[in-house]
Amino acid sequence: MNLILLGGPGAGKGTQAKLIVEEYKIPQISTGDMLRDAVKQGTELGKKAKEYMDKGELVPDEIVIGIVRDRLKQPDCEKGFILDGFPRTIAQAEALDKMLDEIGKKIDAVINIYVPEEEIVKRIVNRRTCKKCGAIYHLIYSPPKEPDKCDKCGGELYQRDDDKEETVRERLRVYKEQTEPLIEYYKKKGILYNVDGTKDINGVFEEIKGVLSKLS
Ligand code: ADP
Ligand code: ADP
Ligand code: ZN
Repeated sequence: MNLILLGGPGAGKGTQAKLIVEEYKIPQISTGDMLRDAVKQGTELGKKAKEYMDKGELVPDEIVIGIVRDRLKQPDCEKGFILDGFPRTIAQAEALDKMLDEIGKKIDAVINIYVPEEEIVKRIVNRRTCKKCGAIYHLIYSPPKEPDKCDKCGGELYQRDDDKEETVRERLRVYKEQTEPLIEYYKKKGILYNVDGTKDINGVFEEIKGVLSKLS
């Protein structure tokens, strides 16, 4: 099963991707996570990406497309994968179609998680992420048992540099301008499935499982 999770910043893509990984045993490919790793490691690519990420802008297509192309070649993607946060532009979607064509694969479903803007801001400013294992928390909706400490691994929780309110507004603008057109792109291909992202985490997951169970 080859899936794409679409949705604005903070819609719950990462949270749902992790649940799908557990249930269906296919890897999550998060371009955001991979870029943050590159930033942490201080690679050339990371340094370049950080300039864009800190401003809430998109990292240039060719960089992100290159990362995904390499990742999809890894053997763990053979049985399927979940793209989380990619594609984010029409150019990325077209490049993805082309690279999948070359390896004889296709996307089975695009899950579009919709959450209104006011709710998105509330979600993002209270998001906390584990430095060690990447687990995602929310100070109100999905709080850790102990503040600043990951329930799963004991790692330290942090707030992402780009999760400040001003940057979130810019990311929302960028989403509307550059990413939202993908909804129409995939609708035309007949593989778009809309999910109500305002439900609680389990409610959203149930909807997603409903969609996936109908795919052959
Ligand atoms: P969120 O899901 O909260 O929007 P992500 O972790 O997916 O955040 O992305 C964080 C940042 O990383 C984006 O704002 C952007 O700068 C960069 N990024 C991630 N994925 C892509 C992509 N596919 N294309 C361009 N930039 C990306
Ligand atoms: P994305 O990957 O789309 O940016 P995340 O999965 O990181 O989104 O979720 C953003 C924030 O919202 C996190 O703090 C997460 O714990 C919280 N969250 C995710 N899904 C829900 C939900 N259905 N209801 C309430 N909060 C949620
Ligand atoms: Zn952890």
